[in-house]
Amino acid sequence: MALSSDSPTDRESSEKITIQNVSRSYESTHALADVSFSVAEGEFCCVVGPSGCGKTTLLRAIAGLDDPDGGSILVGGDPVTGPGLDRGMVFQEYALFPWRTVRGNIRFGLDRPACDCPDCEARVRELIDLVGLDGFEDAYPKELSGGMKQRVGIARALAPDPDILLMDEPFGSVDARTRDRLHAELLDIWTQTGQTVVFVTHDIDEAVTLADRVIVMDADPGTVQSTFSIDLERPRERTSRDFVDHVARIRDELGSPADTSH
Ligand code: ADP
Repeated sequence: MALSSDSPTDRESSEKITIQNVSRSYESTHALADVSFSVAEGEFCCVVGPSGCGKTTLLRAIAGLDDPDGGSILVGGDPVTGPGLDRGMVFQEYALFPWRTVRGNIRFGLDRPACDCPDCEARVRELIDLVGLDGFEDAYPKELSGGMKQRVGIARALAPDPDILLMDEPFGSVDARTRDRLHAELLDIWTQTGQTVVFVTHDIDEAVTLADRVIVMDADPGTVQSTFSIDLERPRERTSRDFVDHVARIRDELGSPADTSH
């Protein structure tokens, strides 16, 4: 178990996302203040922290949906200037189109959503199979459970085959058993695709279940407090001593004031 300061030399060669001194304020609220860290290519990175510490603001900035006041965000070495098909986003509240079927919602994620050529049809089919929604192609969101809706959200984000998957508390609204299943499915997808994942959660167990590395943020202003490497084999056993130790270390850190020496 390691409480590590990010070693730039370790990651320089494979940095996929580089966040440098990013700040964002809303009137008197410092949602992000001088936030810097990087995410390696293919890494599964979880960001945890109390409500209001700027997790969503940070994710939206990486997605190009929000423009920071200061600093820069590079993806693959290029500055983020807006949304792009290289970054897929999954939202907490699903954000599905209620008037579109499962197939129609997933298709919307494609580069050419209106196209019904055999290649696009095959891609939608592949995504439906990948997220286990076979048989529900023609269902509307209101006919689906929370877990199924989020499977649609994930398939839609994966549709253009993005290099990066940005997930904003995606499983916050599903029951515990469904969440466990979705964790396993997400890790399978990540293993298959090799995507770089930034996953926001306030749930430390969830972060330790999923992540290669956990970034702990502090609020008011939103800053990076510390970084933990999670060097446990997957699938992870939540009752194992190592797992419980990791969770306890992060919980202790969240309970303590920001320490900029990490
Ligand atoms: P988190 O995701 O960690 O809960 P957010 O990124 O949503 O945090 O918000 C960080 C801070 O910025 C909070 O204090 C929130 O109220 C504020 N904030 C976020 N978006 C806006 C906005 N559009 N207008 C005003 N304040 C905002």
